[in-house]
Amino acid sequence: MATPKRDIVPGPIELKGHPVAEFERLFEEHGIRKYRARQVYDATYINRIDDVRQMHVLPADLQEKLATEFRMQSVTLKHLQESEDGTKKFLFELWDGRTIESVLIPSEMIEEDGHPRRRTLCISTQVGCNLGCEFCATATLNLTRNLSSGEIVDQFLQAQKYSEKPITNIVYMGMGEPMNNYEAVMRATQIFNDQRTNMVAPRRTTLSTAGVVPGILRMAEEGKIIKLALSLHATTQGLREKLMPIAKRWPLPVVMDALETYYRITRKSITFEYILFDGLNDTEEDVKRLAKMARRFPTKVNVIPFHEIDFTHPTGFAAELRPTSPERLQWFIDRLREEDVHVLIRSSSGLDIDAACGQLALSDSV
Ligand code: SAH
Repeated sequence: MATPKRDIVPGPIELKGHPVAEFERLFEEHGIRKYRARQVYDATYINRIDDVRQMHVLPADLQEKLATEFRMQSVTLKHLQESEDGTKKFLFELWDGRTIESVLIPSEMIEEDGHPRRRTLCISTQVGCNLGCEFCATATLNLTRNLSSGEIVDQFLQAQKYSEKPITNIVYMGMGEPMNNYEAVMRATQIFNDQRTNMVAPRRTTLSTAGVVPGILRMAEEGKIIKLALSLHATTQGLREKLMPIAKRWPLPVVMDALETYYRITRKSITFEYILFDGLNDTEEDVKRLAKMARRFPTKVNVIPFHEIDFTHPTGFAAELRPTSPERLQWFIDRLREEDVHVLIRSSSGLDIDAACGQLALSDSV
């Protein structure tokens, strides 16, 4: 898709979001010795220092120069909401006053020390979204602009301050379509996955797409080894098109071929995300079609209960969408398992604070 250029170059240059080689070049352009870039990189991502004036390895005049020529923090916490289940929703403000959300989700499995086994940060990649999926609250915001790699990385660094233990996993499942901001997402990922930063391993990094085929193929060509998830949600082209307008551009068979190519090159299994809608995609025929798709290459199916988005006052088709009953959901999962499909249920963490999947719509800022 010819994505309109929405990358805005802000006033002072961001200090965050530059992979190390690029950061060294940037420092040289600013007349700063190359080795200093590595020091600032380590202080930022290893020691997690936000303020160059606190980076004591740097001489005072360099601290001053960096503080005037660069913007240190890319996102600023405006509001934090905590759910009964421990999920935390962050409202971050950007340099231009725009806002985005990130969600920190503890896993249900608890370690002996009383801490959850995993802490997953759900990261936004765009301000709003222009895909217009009928079931998603973020769709009501429209797209304002892409996030920079600094704004993506800083969601992690700021959220980490509010988690006692390290964030273990990241998912690009917040606001936006990561494939439509491919370069910034991959630059941020390079920093997250850099062994030196010890932030998150590639196998604990998941990119979720609504089915942007050129992005899937590009990931394959570039040998990206992070996890890939497809928001599938329908087993027929007809229903998928109604739910997700993007499916008209890249129809299901084309998406499936791209995923197969991705698998053949990377040998990585693929996750299908599947929201259950009452009477629409939860029938025996859906089980059969989904099982057939899931067997084409190694996959895992993540069944997601539909989180209602009444607070966005949906109209038309969106207003007709209802969640499948818990009994039917269980039946659907059991049937898929009988068909030898690897199925997981995505928990609905953070529902009470509108922080669950598809509920990110900046309810407290608009
Ligand atoms: N644009 C990407 C990234 C956003 S991910 C994508 O579409 O994959 C957001 C995830 O939450 C997707 O799997 C999406 O389909 C799901 N989701 C959106 N709205 C939802 C809702 N109301 N209930 C449950 N899941 C929802």
